[in-house]
Amino acid sequence: MPANSALEEITAAKHVGFIPHPMRPIECNIQNAFTRYRDSAGRIFWVYLPHKPSTLSARVHADTISRSIEVSVYEQDARDPASPIKGVSINRWSSILIMDDGEWEKGLAELAGLAMKQAEKQPRCLCGSLLSIQELSDRSQIFACSQFPKCSRIATIKDYGYSFQ
Ligand SMILES: [Zn+2]
Repeated sequence: MPANSALEEITAAKHVGFIPHPMRPIECNIQNAFTRYRDSAGRIFWVYLPHKPSTLSARVHADTISRSIEVSVYEQDARDPASPIKGVSINRWSSILIMDDGEWEKGLAELAGLAMKQAEKQPRCLCGSLLSIQELSDRSQIFACSQFPKCSRIATIKDYGYSFQ
């Protein structure tokens, strides 16, 4: 029996209609282009998939108990590019916001907008191919050309940007 067979398979479906009160102010402060999902564990989150060809998405996950909101850019899973759950979170393009200072609504709108823009700006190598997230042994992340080993360029991920080394 595979070791992971006991894990619940998490799935998510697009979700419209009534939204529980603690989540309502979050949805009011993110852009309409985000789609609300509910996963099989009942958690609500939001995903923006750019209409332009891009392997990135922007996602908003909230925890109403710790009153924190995570706004992240993800690289979508190559084998399941439309999945709102699979993929790799890009650490430098992720931020956590606490819902306890008076400005969190404005901060959320700004962060969600930044994540959307970054998801639309598909990182490309100088050779024209896509850049793909690679995790290094120290768990840091870089972008590497998807044409490796034909092209071995790598790029450093900066705050909402990247630069070739
Ligand atoms: Zn390249």
